[in-house]
Amino acid sequence: MSFQNPVFIPGPTNIPESLRKACDMPTIDHRSPLFGQILHPARDGVRKVLKSETAEVFIFPSSGTGGWETALSNTLSAGDTVLAARNGMFSHRWIDMCQRHGLDVQIVETPWGAGLPADRYEEILSADKDHKIKAVLATHNETATGVKSDIAAVRRALDAAGHPALLFVDGVSSIASMDFRMDEWGVDVAVTGSQKGFMLSAGLAIVGFSPKAMEATKSAQLPRTFFDVHDMAKGYANNAYPYTPAVGLMNGLNESCKMLLAEGLENVFARHHRIAEGVRAAVGAWGLELCAATPEVYSDTVSAIRTPEGFNATDIVTHAADKYGIAFGVGLGEVAGKVFRIGHLGSLTDVMALSGIATAEMCMVDLGLDIRLGSGVAAAQEYYRGNAASAQQDAA
Ligand SMILES: *Cc1c(COP(=O)(O)O)cnc(C)c1O
Repeated sequence: MSFQNPVFIPGPTNIPESLRKACDMPTIDHRSPLFGQILHPARDGVRKVLKSETAEVFIFPSSGTGGWETALSNTLSAGDTVLAARNGMFSHRWIDMCQRHGLDVQIVETPWGAGLPADRYEEILSADKDHKIKAVLATHNETATGVKSDIAAVRRALDAAGHPALLFVDGVSSIASMDFRMDEWGVDVAVTGSQKGFMLSAGLAIVGFSPKAMEATKSAQLPRTFFDVHDMAKGYANNAYPYTPAVGLMNGLNESCKMLLAEGLENVFARHHRIAEGVRAAVGAWGLELCAATPEVYSDTVSAIRTPEGFNATDIVTHAADKYGIAFGVGLGEVAGKVFRIGHLGSLTDVMALSGIATAEMCMVDLGLDIRLGSGVAAAQEYYRGNAASAQQDAA
């Protein structure tokens, strides 16, 4: 088995050598000032990546899904109403979690390929005169469909309705890769994980709570133990956790934040946009379409590419793994078999992206799709040649 090739799944992403080394640590006392030297800078770094001055950052040994559970269980009570759109597998799974926690979810069914309907949110919130809705859920980037939503527009919908509901944002596949502004957008709980934009292996749920979300924890009745943010805060005050932290990963997270901030968040976002545009140029040259319906919702971290009617898109993923040792993402849920996904986030360069585009092209030709070898690669090359950033700028 060879591990030479990069992966093109939308998480876990490729781990830079420096981060792999940062995670490889001797055992230290995880209840000591030495651990505090990892913990506190990591939390500060995450706060900067979230673009927040006031968020309380909590980091659990878990994954993004645990971050959802942290958001819900610390701020809500059984029977509370939450508002959520379903426009892909991840928003679907978050709704499912709410229902299993006994929350009443007002679901706005939205086409898979469209962004969150902020205008519908505004109508529903305006009609909710008694303020029964306690939280609005928003998946910033639907990893299943490659659709980005406008979180600022969701905030405007809440404000226009004069509605006090909390705003929870799933930023698992956007934070640290695409523009995210916790304070400016009035996000109350931001959720992410270690294995996407932060370029680490899976194992950390990373959440930011606004002061308003912290206030809501005082009356929230849903049961919580492992994910209790107050237990966690007490631990932090003593350079510790309420249990045993994933020390190596925390050290990796601290280094990851340093790397992202050294590159500059705006440069990180521009790099992701540039790489994504090259992939989209290739998709256009292949004569294929994205699942994302319109350019304003194109994701800069993952592209879900529709294959022709009657063709099983999953065959591309299987074939790429078997013949070329390359990982792409399969279609999930409603779009299973209809799309394959190219993940283009985390530690990636234009040149790495070209190798993924070239491999997808070989697979599609091998499987008999009417695509000319080199067409997508050439389109991406043209784009990257014309929009190259200097190698120095791309520290990652
Ligand atoms: C990956 C992902 C998740 C799930 O995160 P896990 O770390 O697998 O639990 C949730 N939401 C989105 C948008 C994702 O991309």
